[in-house]
Amino acid sequence: MQFKKLACCFFVMWVPLFLASPCVQAATTLQADMVRKCIVIDAGHGGVDSGARSQQGDMEKDINLKIAEYLRDDLQQIGISVVMTRNQDMDLATQEDRANKHRHRGDLRGRLLRAKSVHYDAFVSIHCNADPSPVWRGAHVLYKQGDEKSKELAEIMMNAIREHLLPTQRDIKANQSLYLLKRLDGPAVLVEVGFITHPEELRLLKQPRYQKIIAYSLYEGLMRYFNSESTSSQRSTVSFSTLHG
Ligand SMILES: [Zn+2]
Repeated sequence: MQFKKLACCFFVMWVPLFLASPCVQAATTLQADMVRKCIVIDAGHGGVDSGARSQQGDMEKDINLKIAEYLRDDLQQIGISVVMTRNQDMDLATQEDRANKHRHRGDLRGRLLRAKSVHYDAFVSIHCNADPSPVWRGAHVLYKQGDEKSKELAEIMMNAIREHLLPTQRDIKANQSLYLLKRLDGPAVLVEVGFITHPEELRLLKQPRYQKIIAYSLYEGLMRYFNSESTSSQRSTVSFSTLHG
């Protein structure tokens, strides 16, 4: 019995040391692959466009930007390049768009041009959902209909969301009408992070801790997607506690 215990301790103590070297090597290679990635993050709405509003006046644009900033920080921490379509409370319409009363379309075109100005590896648009009825809740991911890469990213991201957020019955949804998804090459997804019109979900959506968990779910979805593209079976995700303490 005593010998078995000792043998077991020896095994537990030494096996990780024997395995450490190749694992570290594989993770380093993957890390290097990740560093070359570029992600475009689009915080929906902004400026005069508040997006959906709660009954208490909370604005979707503010929640979207907070989550976008946390996602940017998570990605940048491991060296990934990030392009934000907006970094502040603004829209991307031009003076001309406003003068011609095309502000909304001009804003979307501005986001499209910003995304297309770089060679991105994934595009993630962040929005909150809304409904006249306060009973609906849950996050889900939309992707461009017919685009396999986008569908794969949406599926992987949806699984990460299910693991980290409150249980949701929602699933990924193909879309063929959203301005940005329609015009962008994949992988491109739009994430509805939850319903601003559901009182309990709204309370969570406003909490920095919950916003960070949403951002981390999207981060992990991206990492798993890129790892699935890679030939290596090693994963190089960083835990939520490492990123946020
Ligand atoms: Zn929106």
